[in-house]
Amino acid sequence: MNVIEFRRELHRHPELSFEEHRTQRFIIDALEAEGITCRAIAGTGVLAMLEGRRGNLQRAVVLRADIDALPIVEQNAVEYRSQHEGIMHACGHDMHAAMLYGVLKELNRERNFEGTLFGIFQPGEELNPGGASMVLAENPFEGYSVAAVIGQHVDARIDVGQVGICPGVFMASNDELRFTVRGRGGHAARRSDIDDSVSAMADMVLRTTSLNTPDSVVSVGRIIAEGATNVIPSSVYAEGTMRTFDAEARERIYRHIDDNARAVEQRYGVSVDVDISRGYPSVVNDVMLAYEAMIMAADEGIEVVEFGRIPMAEDFGYYTERYPSLFYRLGVGAASGGSHTATFLPDEAAMDVGCRMMQRMALHMLNK
Ligand SMILES: [Zn+2]
Ligand SMILES: [Zn+2]
Repeated sequence: MNVIEFRRELHRHPELSFEEHRTQRFIIDALEAEGITCRAIAGTGVLAMLEGRRGNLQRAVVLRADIDALPIVEQNAVEYRSQHEGIMHACGHDMHAAMLYGVLKELNRERNFEGTLFGIFQPGEELNPGGASMVLAENPFEGYSVAAVIGQHVDARIDVGQVGICPGVFMASNDELRFTVRGRGGHAARRSDIDDSVSAMADMVLRTTSLNTPDSVVSVGRIIAEGATNVIPSSVYAEGTMRTFDAEARERIYRHIDDNARAVEQRYGVSVDVDISRGYPSVVNDVMLAYEAMIMAADEGIEVVEFGRIPMAEDFGYYTERYPSLFYRLGVGAASGGSHTATFLPDEAAMDVGCRMMQRMALHMLNK
C-alpha cells in the first residue's frame, strides 16, 4: 500500500477522538503486513517499533502522528469522501498517519540506522485530556534515552514544498475557566439584606481580564445572571478561556485568579468558586532540534518558513514537556481551505515533502 492509498482509506472511515477502533485495526494490519512490530497504546492508538542494525538500541527517536477526526459533515465531492455521516478528517490527521506509515515502511526495509525508532499513531488529539497524555501515562519509553520526539501538522498558510519551523515556544496552553459567585439574593432595593452577586462577578471578570499581557490571553466570553430589574440572583456564572506560552506564566495566572476570587469574596461577602479545567500545555520546541531541522530541510530542497508563536493548542505539548521535541508545520497551500471546515481538502502532494522531512530528521537524530 502506498501513502496515498493509506491516507484515502483513513479519510473514507474517519472516527472521533478515542473511538478510533477501525483506524487502529487498519494501522496494525498495514504495519504487520510490512513486518513491523507494533502494539496497541492509549486505548485506540498504535505504537510501532523498529530496531536499527547498529549502535545502542536504548537510544531512541519517536515520530508521532495523530489519528482522530472531527464531528463535521464532509462537503467535498471526492471519490474517497467520508462514508461516516457527520464525521470527517477535517484536520489532516489522516495525512499525518499516512506519512508516518510511509516513513516506517521505508526505514524498515534496510533498518540501516542506530538505536530504536518508535512511531506513535496517537488517538484523541482533538479532545481533552488529549491522547498524548494517555500515551505518556503508559511510560512506553521507560529505559530508553529519547533523543527527539518529532511531529508535523498540515498548514494551509504555507505552500506545498515548504515547512514552517519555530524554535522555542510555539503553541499555547489552553485552559477553560468557570466562575460561580453565590450570595444572598433578593429584592434589589433592600441592599442591606442581599449580597450583590452581580457586582461581585463584574469585579471578578474585570480583575480576570486585567491579567492579559501580550503573551497571555485571559478572556471571559459568557456571563449568566438571571435576576431582573429588581431582583439580585443568588448565583452568577461566568466562563472563559486562558492561553499562555509558558508553564510559569500559566501558574502565575492561576494564582492571580485565585487571589482575585478571595479578594472579591471579602469585598462583597459572597463565595466565589473557581473551576479551571486544564487543557494542553504549551508546545515548546527544542531550539537545537529546530535549527537542525532547518538545515535538514534545506538539504532536502524543502523551503523553510520561520514561524512565530500561534495561539492554538496541541496535545503535542505533553511530549515537549518531557523530551526534546519538535513540532513543525507542513505546507499544503491556501487552496486546501481552512482546517476544521467541511471543505478542508489538503493537497496530497505535500505528503512526499512530509515523508522526506520526517525521515531525514529521524535518521539524522538516530545516527548522531
Ligand atoms: Zn484539529
Ligand atoms: Zn490537528
